[in-house]
Amino acid sequence: MDNMAEIWLATRDLRVHDNPALADALAVAGADADRTAGPGAPPLIVPLFVVDPAIRKPPNRSAFLAGALADLDRELRERGAALVVRHGDPAVEAVRVAQAAGARAICIADDVSATARARLARLARVCGENRLELRVSPGATVVPAGALVPDGDPSRLAYQVFTPYWRRWAATAWRPLALTPGRLALPDGVTPGRLPAAADLAPGGSPSPRLPVGGEAAGSERARAWFAGLVTTYAATRDDLAADATSGLSPYLHLGCVSPVALAARLAGRPEMEPFLRQLCWRDFYAHLLAARPDSAHADLRPRSAAWVDDEQGLAAWREGMTGYPIVDAAMRQLLTEGFVHNRARMVVASFLTKHLGVHWREGARWYDQWLVDGDVASNAGNWQWVAGTGADTKPHRVFNPTLQGQRYDPSGEYVRRWVPELAGVPGKAVHEPWKLPHLERAVLRYPLPIVDHADAVARYRAS
Ligand code: FAD
Repeated sequence: MDNMAEIWLATRDLRVHDNPALADALAVAGADADRTAGPGAPPLIVPLFVVDPAIRKPPNRSAFLAGALADLDRELRERGAALVVRHGDPAVEAVRVAQAAGARAICIADDVSATARARLARLARVCGENRLELRVSPGATVVPAGALVPDGDPSRLAYQVFTPYWRRWAATAWRPLALTPGRLALPDGVTPGRLPAAADLAPGGSPSPRLPVGGEAAGSERARAWFAGLVTTYAATRDDLAADATSGLSPYLHLGCVSPVALAARLAGRPEMEPFLRQLCWRDFYAHLLAARPDSAHADLRPRSAAWVDDEQGLAAWREGMTGYPIVDAAMRQLLTEGFVHNRARMVVASFLTKHLGVHWREGARWYDQWLVDGDVASNAGNWQWVAGTGADTKPHRVFNPTLQGQRYDPSGEYVRRWVPELAGVPGKAVHEPWKLPHLERAVLRYPLPIVDHADAVARYRAS
């Protein structure tokens, strides 16, 4: 058949640079192009994205995804192709498109979530039934999940603690960067289809008012600015809540709009960059943990001695940012407005929910998943379990004191005043303890008293 194209089934790798699955499809298609149309003809490729109605994303991630797909389409059109969009079961649709294009192979990136694993298994089955080759390339992490196994562990269980994993990870050779495509072409008869808008991808509800724009262009620009600026002071300023001195790359990493390997490659061999590189390793660590323990997305990795509490009222106050602890409330309100929260603040609010209130981490993870623009099964569940004391933390009983955390990481109180308008007029550090203000001053604030006393809550947690 003259019209032979290969399929790149895009999933969480929405970029053209350093994309192993796309490069793999091009390597196969490039050889075909040379053979059928003569040397130098652009390879025929179907960059396919299937909107799976079984995966309905919350509004914030849908908005980001719609932006990322539009940007990918633009990149592909600049090269002579386009993003082909279909709706349905990705396995069925990919095979249908492959047959229409006369393809021999479907190329896809590996992934670790239960949804991704099930999709890959279905794809393998239908490819087998239809004599198509399924080619799986390295996926969303720097080091493939499952690649690093503790020495002498015959059960091949994953590293359960970060530091030994980090040592192995940092000493491992990462894959080389994949080739960037030049000119491309879509095969005749394959129509691109309509790009989905955010509303087509979301089950209802409105996105947060201030979200980052999805896509490789925005992600690359953010990475460029990051490497030209704040990365060098990351170790010193990353925990400053008011400064916003972290990269903001997490949603771009989540959807593969930037390549984690390309980021890591820029940091390697530069000791001053190690603190940032370690964060990329944490991301890999949680993917690796999820791959080894798929149930950890919802089940405790380790038992916790303290009991879980059913506290609907406390949970509601936490969700709304009305706990009476300013740092907790600031973070929870930032989440609703920006779909983002600084890592330090995520830890503080997660500790408050699971240890001060005793509410199961699953409730918190579900709320985060609903709102976070970077919501990611592996990082979300892994971090929640870490904080709740059921996961990979080697000090599972630690409790973050929300007042001390506020005083330490928001010393001027600027972060709290930014997000809790009721407290905007309270100067300096006093903003972290509004309950200590004189009675009359406090009465006009219309800000709640703490819903639990810190000392009582910690005592209850430790005693249960
Ligand atoms: P930077 O500080 O600039 O770090 C660079 C990158 O390293 C991040 O973009 C991220 O990909 C990775 N990274 C940094 N810290 C962590 C970490 N603790 N765990 C895993 N990866 C990390 N991150 C998500 O991407 N998705 C989630 O759903 C998610 N849920 C979380 C839930 C809780 C309870 C906690 C405590 C943390 C969670 N994190 C999650 C991790 C972390 O908070 C965010 O990755 C980080 O705040 C994103 O901001 P940034 O890109 O500016 O990070």
